[in-house]
Amino acid sequence: MAYALTWLPAVLDAAGLKVAEVPGWQNRGRAEMGTPLGCMVHHTAGPRAGNMPSLRTLVDGRPDLPGPLCQLGLGRDGTWYVVAAGRANHAGAGNWRGETQGNSHFIGIEAENTGGADDLPWPEVQMSALVHGLAALLRHIGRDVDWCAGHKEYALPSGRKNDPSFDMGPLRMQVAQALAGNLPPPALIPAVEPAAPPGLPPRPTVRRGSAGADVTRLQQLLHIEPADGLFGPGTEAVVRQFQRDHGLVPDGIIGPKTWPLLEPR
Ligand SMILES: [Zn+2]
Repeated sequence: MAYALTWLPAVLDAAGLKVAEVPGWQNRGRAEMGTPLGCMVHHTAGPRAGNMPSLRTLVDGRPDLPGPLCQLGLGRDGTWYVVAAGRANHAGAGNWRGETQGNSHFIGIEAENTGGADDLPWPEVQMSALVHGLAALLRHIGRDVDWCAGHKEYALPSGRKNDPSFDMGPLRMQVAQALAGNLPPPALIPAVEPAAPPGLPPRPTVRRGSAGADVTRLQQLLHIEPADGLFGPGTEAVVRQFQRDHGLVPDGIIGPKTWPLLEPR
């Protein structure tokens, strides 16, 4: 039997966000969740490479904590992963505005980030998706921005948690702007370059999992051997380093900002 939060993907999708349903999510949960009163933001403290490398852990849990560990995951490219429609183990002991039953009343959002200095700044596309997603979720449950909490703000004893690694105050100001309709739509990386010179085809956005001639081309440009046309973890690591070296957000995705630096034309 499906749990109650079956509305999650539709609400995020309607907000113009990219949504990936993790198979079995409708029936996944510790039990039925109580009435959602707010959202709680976490970082995964997962690996540095990949878009959502912690997904398996969010679904299955850890040796010390059975899954699911959230209702929603948020990848580095701004994709929302729907993990569970029921209650999840994410909050632990704490208090936010008098509410102490975090797992029963807060939708848990695990955003992929190591939580360390090696993973700053957070990708713009991920933060934009977070702001717009939080606004859509809060609007749906009829709560205001004060019900968007960081795990580090809720957790007791004070200092037990340090996630997320950004300040919640500015995030809430952005979410309030989104709720008021004062923000442009979510920044999604276009599927192809918006503008190409006359006579040249626009280059597609490629990321881990992509394959084909455009991947072969970028592997040649980055001197990756073999240039097999398969965008795997090795290619992604080289792409991230290239982006760091050129002052770009190291999201490992070759899109309209990275292509021109890789192959000017
Ligand atoms: Zn947390």
